[in-house]
Amino acid sequence: MTGYALPIQRLIKELGKLPGIGEKTATRLATFILRASPEDARKLADSIVEVKSKIRFCSACFNLAEGDLCEICMDH
Ligand SMILES: [Zn+2]
Repeated sequence: MTGYALPIQRLIKELGKLPGIGEKTATRLATFILRASPEDARKLADSIVEVKSKIRFCSACFNLAEGDLCEICMDH
């Protein structure tokens, strides 16, 4: 990955941390993102930030939840 501009190296490094993603696949994904429209790239980045800020584990059953409790536990 040497030879790439620093922001691209950083992207490849971060993508490479994902499960099952080696450096080769990370480079392919980074190239895809580079060629994507600014809007699509923004949607991808936003969805990662959004899922981390909005989704947590239900305090009752440890399912994925959008608030303190998941939909199943809120239903009771
Ligand atoms: Zn729950």
